[in-house]
Amino acid sequence: MIDQAPPAIPQTKHDSIMLGAIAFVIFVCVSLLIVDGWRSWNAREFELQEMAVETSNLAQAMAQHANDTFKAADSMTYSLVERMETYGTSAPELQRLHRYLEASVAQSPQFNALAIYDAKGDWVADSREVLLQNFNNADREYFVFHRIHTDRGAHIGTPVTSRATGRWVIPVSRRINDAQGNFAGVALVTVEIDYFRQFYRKLDIGRNGSLVLALDDGTMLLRRPFNDELIGSSMLNTDLFQAFRSDGRMGTVYTTSAADGVNRLNSYRGLDDYPLFVSAAFSKSEILADWWHDTLLHSCGVIALVIILGLAGARLVRQIDLRVKTEQELVRARDALETLNQTLEKLATQDGLTGLANRRKFDSSLVAEFSRATRDASTLALVMIDVDLFKKYNDVYGHPAGDACLRTISQTIAELTKSRPDDLVARYGGEELSILLPNTDVAGAVAVAEKIRRTIEQLEIKHSGHPQGVVTVSAGVEALVPQPHMNTAAQLLEAADKALYAAKSAGRNRVCTNLAIAAPGAVVTPAAIIPAI
Ligand code: GH3
Ligand code: MG
Ligand code: MG
Repeated sequence: MIDQAPPAIPQTKHDSIMLGAIAFVIFVCVSLLIVDGWRSWNAREFELQEMAVETSNLAQAMAQHANDTFKAADSMTYSLVERMETYGTSAPELQRLHRYLEASVAQSPQFNALAIYDAKGDWVADSREVLLQNFNNADREYFVFHRIHTDRGAHIGTPVTSRATGRWVIPVSRRINDAQGNFAGVALVTVEIDYFRQFYRKLDIGRNGSLVLALDDGTMLLRRPFNDELIGSSMLNTDLFQAFRSDGRMGTVYTTSAADGVNRLNSYRGLDDYPLFVSAAFSKSEILADWWHDTLLHSCGVIALVIILGLAGARLVRQIDLRVKTEQELVRARDALETLNQTLEKLATQDGLTGLANRRKFDSSLVAEFSRATRDASTLALVMIDVDLFKKYNDVYGHPAGDACLRTISQTIAELTKSRPDDLVARYGGEELSILLPNTDVAGAVAVAEKIRRTIEQLEIKHSGHPQGVVTVSAGVEALVPQPHMNTAAQLLEAADKALYAAKSAGRNRVCTNLAIAAPGAVVTPAAIIPAI
């Protein structure tokens, strides 16, 4: 039903609906991107943390390996010093010592050589088959160190190339004292750098990972990728060494290698018992390669989803816009139709000349009010009014002036009866008007009719064809309480008409009922009603 249609959606509300819809679509798309971005970032962090644990474990294994290797070398130097200081350097003892050194090296692949030097740096005993006579090691850093320091602990020196074999070795040495506690020489075990190289080669560190074994003072012992030129070089200026120095002997640091420009995640760790540290590192780009691959695939999927959502959202917004606009159009059309209907209804029930209700409206109202009065047992009054000598008026002043006169009379009557909304004034036909007065008895209706008659007379509309010289009206009044199955609306109409006829017959310009006729021009009140002639 058109009447139950919703009111028109105002433009501002329409705009806010559209804005809300657009904001919702954007919110969903952006949320999706943010959630996915957050998930990806978390996955990246997780990957790096996992790798930090892995590199840390690798560094731990390397540290353990190095610690064990140097412990073995350290134990060996200790036993050599003990032996030298206890048994001296007699020829048989040196022979036994030589066999012992030979056997020890043979059993320990990590050792390059074992040697004993006297206070001048000459070879006293050696693990090799033939004792080297033509070399002197007094210039070696470890030799100088022990000569100067009375400390009896092990000393791990900077890497050197063996004078005997030409291979890179790490010297582990201890001072030998004579009976008076004076410097008597050095016991030396050289550890093969190759031993570490072979071990490090087996470790899986990807294509761009790196492994480092270094002294606490920043001297590089070995680095993978292997490069002999780096052995013995200084690491003092590297980020890795700085981190080791400043952040404690164990930790994780990201560095970019000056040598190859690779950004790595390093885990470093100092050895438990010796002044050395190791580091294991994985290339960051290798660590994140799988993550990048996943993220790329995932992002493509999410972006495709966002595009689809965006397009669907845009379509939805357009549909909403269209729907709202259609609703607005519908409501506007409904309003226009309503206005048109009201106009048509008015035209169908209104008299074109006077603006009063027309005959059709009067007839239907008469039937309706009659039924109601019958139901309610109330009084229904009807006043029939006719303009006196109107034919002559037309004859004298012309038809258009007659129309104007009829309009004036109609407006006057409408004005006089407007206080009671249920009253109906209609143009019954020609210059004849009728007034339906529900809940009004005959006295009330006579009073209304008389008031109308008097007012029109007092308008003093000039009428030369009238004996009084002005336009007047006559009225016939009838009122009754309709009895079911006894009275009809036609009877009421007929009776009012009859009374009007009586008024005309009695000389016009008066109000008559079927019971009484008012004296011409007299003020008619129910009490003043005089018997009909
Ligand atoms: P009375 O009623 O006093 O007996 O005399 P009368 O001259 O009014 O009598 P009658 O009813 O015979 O004439 C009515 C006249 O009203 C006839 C017609 O010329 C005129 N008339 C009816 N309708 C209209 C109208 O719409 N416009 C105009 N100008 N005149 C109308
Ligand atoms: Mg008439
Ligand atoms: Mg008339």
